[in-house]
This record gives sequence, structure tokens and C-alpha cells, in this order.
Amino acid sequence: MSNFPIQYHEPVFRPPSEWKSLIIQLTLGCSWNNCAFCEMYTSKQFRARKEEDIFHDIDAFIPHAYQIRRVFLADGDPLVLSTNRLIRILNHLKNTFPRLQRVSAYASPNNLIRKSISELEDLKNAGLNLLFVGLESGDDEVLSMINKGETSKSMIEGLNKSKLAGLDSSVMIINGVGGKQYTFQHALNSAAIINEIQPKYLSTLVLTAYKGMDYLKSRLNVDFTELNEQELVQEMRQFIEHLQLKETIFRSDHASNHLILKGVLGRDKEKFIAKIDSI
Ligand code: SF4
Repeated sequence: MSNFPIQYHEPVFRPPSEWKSLIIQLTLGCSWNNCAFCEMYTSKQFRARKEEDIFHDIDAFIPHAYQIRRVFLADGDPLVLSTNRLIRILNHLKNTFPRLQRVSAYASPNNLIRKSISELEDLKNAGLNLLFVGLESGDDEVLSMINKGETSKSMIEGLNKSKLAGLDSSVMIINGVGGKQYTFQHALNSAAIINEIQPKYLSTLVLTAYKGMDYLKSRLNVDFTELNEQELVQEMRQFIEHLQLKETIFRSDHASNHLILKGVLGRDKEKFIAKIDSI
């Protein structure tokens, strides 16, 4: 039997960089739960957890309070909760963990748009620092094909709003998500949207069909032909070539990537392109 102080509603996901964080589930599942490529929360019915249950989970870590520096709010999109409720939870985290330095969460651009800038500022002031946003693509045809429920416009609006409120963002693009048909426009329009947003962190991962390619194809709105390894690398080159970033920390070190790149863009852009060309 585990000695871990709380019991999670499995499965639980977190971004790779949150491996040191205490995970607290505010919601279960994802309120959208419709992206064609995503199997993360298909086994869960979305619901907000009761506030008393969330506080109970936080309080279970009181004996370890001085060790907790980072908290990740799960599951898929806790920002769907009302601002007042989120502030009460953030305040409770702050009051419970005196050495808390960072609170992060997954967020969708639509949920950011639904909040005012002053609400987002209130969340920032209550301790929320960093939002992880899966953009997947900046191309509207690709977004429609994968049933993302977002557009390039909603992504720019949501992310620029959170940036104005002082919240940092870590955004993710999926290499290969447009298949052969959309690879060029996916690379260019994804670079364009990232240039508009200028996120603090950017990462890429490679499209992975967890339930097999036939299943994934059956969920997409068009005929889909996946990219081979060489085409994936070519797509990455086009994407990076069109990025115009001032200071964004870039990582393509997720387990799905064949091509590992780490650095700061724009500074390391030519270095990345030279590495890709050498491949
Ligand atoms: S919004 Fe995120 S968690 Fe929800 S279905 Fe899409 S990719 Fe999955």
C-alpha cells in the first residue's frame, strides 16, 4: 500500500518540466475532450472537483509543507473554473506552503478569452505563474481537421491576453499533425502564430497515434497521410526557419522527437538549422 498522502483520480498527466511539482487535481478530465489525436482524458467524464476535496488534498501535504516549491494544477483545463474559486485555491496553496515559488496549469485559449484581463491579473497576483497551452498548429485548416475547437485568432487573443496580465506561457506545436497534405502551411502558420505570441517557452513533439494510425485517421475530417522521418525533419526546418523570436526557450526533447534541439530562439536559430541540415 502506498504512503502517498492523497489518492489521484487516474490517469494523471503533467508537462515533462513539472516533474518536481506537487500535482493537485482541481478538475477531472478536459471540458473539451474532442481533439482527434488526444487520448489523455477519454476515459474520464469532465467535472469540477468539490472545493472541500481540493482543500483536503492540499492539507494532506501539511507535514511536507516546507519541501513544496512548485504546484501543478490538473487536469486538462482548470481555468474553466470561476476566478473567485481559483483565487481561493491559490490563496490556500500560498498559506499552506510557505516556500511555494511557482504554480502552473494547463490552459486553453478559449478559457483565457472568457476571463477579463483584470481577472487574469488577479490570478497572477494570487500566485499563478505559468500556463501550458497545447496550440498544436497555427493553421486553421489543420485545427479544424483535428477538431481542436480553437482558431489561430482565438489562440493569439487568449495568449496575448494572459501575457498582458503578466502570466508566462509554455506553448506546444505538434510536428507532423497536418500530415503530407498540410505540412507546408502547418509549418509556416505555426511559426506565424508563435511570432505573434512570443511565448516564454516553446516545445514541439511528434504526432503519435496511441491507438494506432487507422484509429487516428478515422477521427480526422480528411484523408490523412502521415509524414515519414525525413519529412518530419523537413517540416521542423521550415518551422524554425520562419520563427522570428526575441527570447523564447525552445525544447524538442519530448520522448516522441527524433530530433533533439534545445536552446534559445532567436539566438540559436542558425545553430538549429545547421544541425537539421547535417541530419
Ligand atoms: S484540449 Fe488538450 S486535453 Fe483536451 S482534448 Fe484537446 S489536447 Fe486533449
